[in-house]
Amino acid sequence: MTRSESTTPVDFYLADGLLTADERAVRGRVRTFAEEHLRPAAREAWEREAFPRHLLPELAKLGIAGGAVRGHGCPGLSPMAAGLAMQELARVDSSFATFFAVSGGLVPVTLASCGSEEQQARWLPRLAAVEAIGAFALTEPEHGSDASHLATRATRDGDEYVLDGSKRWIGNATVCDVAIVWARVEDGVGGFLVEPPAAGFIATAIEGKMAQRGAPQAEIRLEGSRVPAANRLPRGGFGAVAEVLGVARHSAAWHALGEAIACYAISRDYALCREQFGKPLAAFQLVQAKLVRMLGEITKSQLLTIQLGRLLERGEATPGMTALAKLSTTAMAREVAATAREILGGNGILQDHEVMRHLCDLEAVYTYEGTFDINTLIVGREITGIGAFA
Ligand SMILES: Cc1cc2nc3c(=O)[nH]c(=O)nc-3n(C[C@H](O)[C@H](O)[C@H](O)COP(=O)(O)OP(=O)(O)OC[C@H]3O[C@@H](n4cnc5c(N)ncnc54)[C@H](O)[C@@H]3O)c2cc1C
Repeated sequence: MTRSESTTPVDFYLADGLLTADERAVRGRVRTFAEEHLRPAAREAWEREAFPRHLLPELAKLGIAGGAVRGHGCPGLSPMAAGLAMQELARVDSSFATFFAVSGGLVPVTLASCGSEEQQARWLPRLAAVEAIGAFALTEPEHGSDASHLATRATRDGDEYVLDGSKRWIGNATVCDVAIVWARVEDGVGGFLVEPPAAGFIATAIEGKMAQRGAPQAEIRLEGSRVPAANRLPRGGFGAVAEVLGVARHSAAWHALGEAIACYAISRDYALCREQFGKPLAAFQLVQAKLVRMLGEITKSQLLTIQLGRLLERGEATPGMTALAKLSTTAMAREVAATAREILGGNGILQDHEVMRHLCDLEAVYTYEGTFDINTLIVGREITGIGAFA
């Protein structure tokens, strides 16, 4: 067995029955795309730190960009369908899933939630058709977890705003057509649509990553970058930012689940084929115990993310609920990937078997959309009423 590419669905508790036919259809479409188009490109993209831009026309055909946003060409998927799409992309390529989470998810969601009708009409149809790429620029070199303390400033000058500051770890910034840049304004925090190439907007790729090497992340310098006042999102404030990040956390939970499912399936298949002491690895009790623990943790996360999808659909999900799903699912996936790597022995560190790539990539998912610690503090605040980090 030289290459692990198990596509066996992992559904021990028959959770498929909790999905609608439309949701299963979206998952099926994305699964086919991921197997036929993404898988052949994923390894090279990771090794060469190159974004596989050639996949965008095929991605566009799936009709999933824009996710749960309705109108202006966006598909208006259920949160569950959007989550399942993420799961299927991430099962095959975490880097591409992260590109999509920003351009096809977080950016359209932010425009729909905070943008004017004119801003939505200008950008949502192009983002939904994957004719434009979006970026979401919040994090700064000196402000990651405490992004609410951001230092980038937007100063009004006649009909324009002048942006000064710097951003770090911004997904898609080197390839984007529009970046939502969050900056300090006279009355709080505001979002601004910057359209590269724009004078004073300098995006430099972050190289040498050991996770999600196929996804472009960048450092941005804003040096007197001018945007029309009309490019300011009418809805701002850190409450609005936190709200859209809540949606992104649901997406990140599905993302981590997809990677965990991939690692479990690969290691189970491997354990059935690889023999030691005259028996398949899967015949040893210790190996079965590892597989069962992985499956148990995956199953719990499946049920959690599905229920969260329904709560989001009904508008009943709280920030603590999305934070708990994000932190627990990413922690679970990290552990599952490490156990899968262990089951594959030495072969586990090879690209051929993919688990090592997942193990590395999951470090990024564990960190962005709020680290494990920060999401823990969000849940802690909700259950105690005491904010331990503001
Ligand atoms: C691959 C990748 C893609 C990303 N994409 C984007 C993007 O598109 N847009 C964007 O704006 N940002 C993006 N980010 C940034 C991401 O959101 C931040 O990395 C994250 O918020 C953590 O910030 P930091 O890296 O500065 O770590 P820090 O905030 O410096 O944290 C370092 C450590 O300290 C812990 N810590 C911090 N504060 C506390 C506290 N109060 N209590 C306990 N522990 C604490 C953290 O949990 C962490 O373990 C991305 C990051 C990565 C790695």
